[in-house]
Amino acid sequence: MNDIMEGTGQAFEDAALTIAMRYKRIRSTVAQACSRVGRDPADVRIVGVSKTVGLPEIAQAIEAGVDDFGENRTRLFDQRVRAFPEKRWHFIGTIQTNKIKDFVGRAALVHSVASERALRGIARRAWMMDVVQPVLLEVNVSGEASKDGVDPVELPDLLAVASTLDGIEVQGLMTMAPRGDEDLARKTFRELSALRAFHAKRHVADKRVNLLELSMGMSEDYEVAVEEGATIIRVGRTLFGVH
Ligand SMILES: *Cc1c(COP(=O)(O)O)cnc(C)c1O
Repeated sequence: MNDIMEGTGQAFEDAALTIAMRYKRIRSTVAQACSRVGRDPADVRIVGVSKTVGLPEIAQAIEAGVDDFGENRTRLFDQRVRAFPEKRWHFIGTIQTNKIKDFVGRAALVHSVASERALRGIARRAWMMDVVQPVLLEVNVSGEASKDGVDPVELPDLLAVASTLDGIEVQGLMTMAPRGDEDLARKTFRELSALRAFHAKRHVADKRVNLLELSMGMSEDYEVAVEEGATIIRVGRTLFGVH
């Protein structure tokens, strides 16, 4: 088992491991990252991103103890919620307003709200269904043109809109770091964490805005994300062993 615990950065390149072994290794890596910075591993939710695998692999992950899964396309999201309705399903994909009905009221958390239009659309649908949909606002911290997410300077306006809407609760912020540069990833996560703290304080009295969650960190950088305060990590390849 020691061999397996080492070299976590290479996790998704070792095809011989089972999903159960991979999950164990992720939890161990999270626990070590937590202990380095004095955090409780129970405060980090591990979301298995299943977009590249089939139902049998999801079943194996469930068997291994994974409770939370993430999908970025509404069609697969729908299929999988139906197959495993007892699990918590997260919607993490780009939001198209005509697809909102496919996940509102079914997603435990929508991670990727990146416009006022999406926010209002989700709130309207949730209000019609008489539910409150938990969401995160996706922030493009790094400013990369290829990334989804709102510019940090747009956050005050978006949060102000959110605070007026029945049907949603903004539970935190989400981001994706630039790939392949650990220092840059750390800087990105640190900035998201600072944004959360800043805006949480401004909205303490607000029923619709409770900024507690930081969804950040994927297969390559979740260890750094946990050190920087991630409460939710989204791991695909390193859990399922696919490229
Ligand atoms: C695919 C995806 C992930 C998981 O990425 P891995 O590198 O496979 O861990 C996480 N978050 C989002 C938004 C994704 O689309």
